[in-house]
Amino acid sequence: MDRHGWSRTTAYAVGAAVLLAAGTGCSGGGDSGAASAALVAPSGTTAPAGTPSPRQGAATPSPSTPPAPAAADAAAWAKWNLTPLPPAPPAPADKPVKLQRTGPVPVFSEVRTSDKVVFVTIDDGAEKDPRFVEMLTDLKVPVSMFLTRDIVKDDYGYFKRLQALGNHVHNHTVDHAQLSKVTPEKQKSEVCDAQAALTQQYGTPPLLFRPPYGDGANTPALNSSVQQCGPRAIVLWRESMQIHDMQYQAADKKLRPGDIVLAHFRGPKDLKGETMTQMFGEMLARIQEQGFAVARLEDYIAAPAG
Ligand SMILES: [Zn+2]
Repeated sequence: MDRHGWSRTTAYAVGAAVLLAAGTGCSGGGDSGAASAALVAPSGTTAPAGTPSPRQGAATPSPSTPPAPAAADAAAWAKWNLTPLPPAPPAPADKPVKLQRTGPVPVFSEVRTSDKVVFVTIDDGAEKDPRFVEMLTDLKVPVSMFLTRDIVKDDYGYFKRLQALGNHVHNHTVDHAQLSKVTPEKQKSEVCDAQAALTQQYGTPPLLFRPPYGDGANTPALNSSVQQCGPRAIVLWRESMQIHDMQYQAADKKLRPGDIVLAHFRGPKDLKGETMTQMFGEMLARIQEQGFAVARLEDYIAAPAG
């Protein structure tokens, strides 16, 4: 383990056997089979001695502790026929993931935390359902968006509305290529050209990158491309939302603290008639049933200093 809390050897080795689904795009669950690599922070590398733990167990809530769901919040959840999730705990002061400005980027599918939280990521960008903006506005569930340039370019503005709710935009290539099958030059342009377009549109360079299908995530070639283009980590997932249920990598089919959950911007034609908001509601129900809150992934990540 190096001082940043992940094993680079593990990051490259784990997940070498990425499963690839047939077909194009993410429709059809193609992203659901990728192997995972855990980003693990050694338990000893936390805050300096004497610093109160920012996480659970604190008897006295800090001033930033969010209030319990108010009646208005309960009404918002009821509007969508959902039971409210527990509120997320305060963002940890000492981020479990610390990214570096240069050098190899870590590959991870979960974040080391004892908070009973999971992180929701949404990929591609095909479905641009206005009701989903309404849903996130009502429920205030944080999401991280991994956008594919050529899938979102007909309506960049849709995702600006989600960004305005506090959600971050990340890089998911130019055209959803299967990166292990393309030349190094094409691989680099898939990452760099998407980075440029998303930076121009959303005003800030994407910090994270996700390869379509998780393909190539643990290869030195892709790691090098990502380094050259700007993102500072490659993010995979532990669970993949389908239409009504999640596909789990864990044999016991249970969420664990810090898991990253994959979903997609999909509509009725990819969801057997279900809408984006129905799918997302089902996902929140699966999370609620297991007693987890949804936290913001970027709150657990320290971007490179400087
Ligand atoms: Zn995708």
